[in-house]
Amino acid sequence: MHESCGVFGIYAPNEDVSRLTFFALFALQHRGQESAGIATTDGNRLQVFADMGLVSQVFSEESLSSLTGSIAIGHNRYSTRGSSRITNVQPIVVGEGSDTIAVAHNGNIINAEYLHKELCDRGYCFRSSTDTEVIANLILSSTEKDWIGRIKYAMNRLKGAYSLTIMTRDTLFGVRDPLGVRPLCLGRLNGGWVIASESCALDHIGASVEKEIEPGEIVSINAGGVSSHSIAVGRRGFCIFEYIYFARPDSVINGRLLYQARQAMGAGLAEEHPVDADLVMGVPDSATAAGVGYAIRSGIPLGEGLIKNRYVGRTFIEPHQRIRDLGVKLKFNPLPQVLSGKRVVLVDDSIVRGTTTPKVIGLLRRAGAREVHMRICAPPLRYPCFFGVDMATQRELIAAHKTVPEIRDFIGADSLGYLSLEGLYRAVDLPKDIFCAACFTGDYPIPVQLGMDKLALETKGAARQVSLM
Ligand code: SF4
Repeated sequence: MHESCGVFGIYAPNEDVSRLTFFALFALQHRGQESAGIATTDGNRLQVFADMGLVSQVFSEESLSSLTGSIAIGHNRYSTRGSSRITNVQPIVVGEGSDTIAVAHNGNIINAEYLHKELCDRGYCFRSSTDTEVIANLILSSTEKDWIGRIKYAMNRLKGAYSLTIMTRDTLFGVRDPLGVRPLCLGRLNGGWVIASESCALDHIGASVEKEIEPGEIVSINAGGVSSHSIAVGRRGFCIFEYIYFARPDSVINGRLLYQARQAMGAGLAEEHPVDADLVMGVPDSATAAGVGYAIRSGIPLGEGLIKNRYVGRTFIEPHQRIRDLGVKLKFNPLPQVLSGKRVVLVDDSIVRGTTTPKVIGLLRRAGAREVHMRICAPPLRYPCFFGVDMATQRELIAAHKTVPEIRDFIGADSLGYLSLEGLYRAVDLPKDIFCAACFTGDYPIPVQLGMDKLALETKGAARQVSLM
């Protein structure tokens, strides 16, 4: 399961905007670990520095010092559209002169192929194979006179998920799609303004949360102040997986602290799937809070039998199976002194392909665990995501073709219990109709094609480059 990028933006004429963006991206590193980038403007010049790697690997003192100005946007990427390569790093910068914009995107545009072709036919050139460049060129292609009109034009044509930070020479914009799939919040910092995927980024740089940017809303920030604009919205589709796994536990989304929601998921699991055991453990870090919730509700002692190497990054950092296999060993070290002879309840956020869980259970058994009872904070994942999460194709999802008892046997657990959808909604404790839960139900908030290809723009981008030479 891959996160789908983190975005940030800052308008603060008296601050070191590139360094603050660096620290904010650092806080959002969990949302994307393939590449990172920052773009700044001083009102005349727009500069960008981006490269493959983690935030700490990409930026140096020298590169941050060269990024001057009063506005900045930043991006951490995990590729959900277009491959992981240097030409696809963000922020994407397009246009010329005063018509130049930089765009950072979290989400996935499902009609990107169609729009890409239309824009190519109209003479727009593409350097990347990302849907972000489609968004940027779509904005530029509008005949509306001002930026708000141009962004609205693009929003009315884009289908899918997009939380954006956009920068022109003098204005910062925060934009959220009408479904509101991915989070985006607005904050204040010493008279300036910041926009971030998650509130944890604001906490780390000393900013206060002003509000969450609404589905279909455009927030514009410049020397004239802050203004809000919006397009019509219909059905909502906030990704419920943000609560289960993607977002950091110290972020607040829709007014709900993620840590508390996850703890409630664990408590719900203890009620729905009780078991006699000696020890409860959450798989660190994403299921730690759920493990606490299970232990409190069940009365079974909480323990730590798996120590995580926090400097390895997430297991799925590399998209290839061989590296993923190695990743589990690199990431967790079991404690035989804690596990030996114990009946263990192991709480995790999800089972996607079913490739990681058997390895973790194997680690516990080899360390002496007598029984391993697996508890999952979500219902079985049966449908792929088209809204910015690269989880797997439907064929790869283990629950799409195996029953729960078959999955239990496949992963080598003594028992397996998934939280019900009702139990998940109860744990999140927000109105059901604001959510997308399509990966469990198949009920997508807008129509999708199940066989969509995340690299669909790749060949088209290459062909375009050839024709330009
Ligand atoms: S399909 Fe699943 S992962 Fe994708 S947006 Fe909906 S809830 Fe989130």
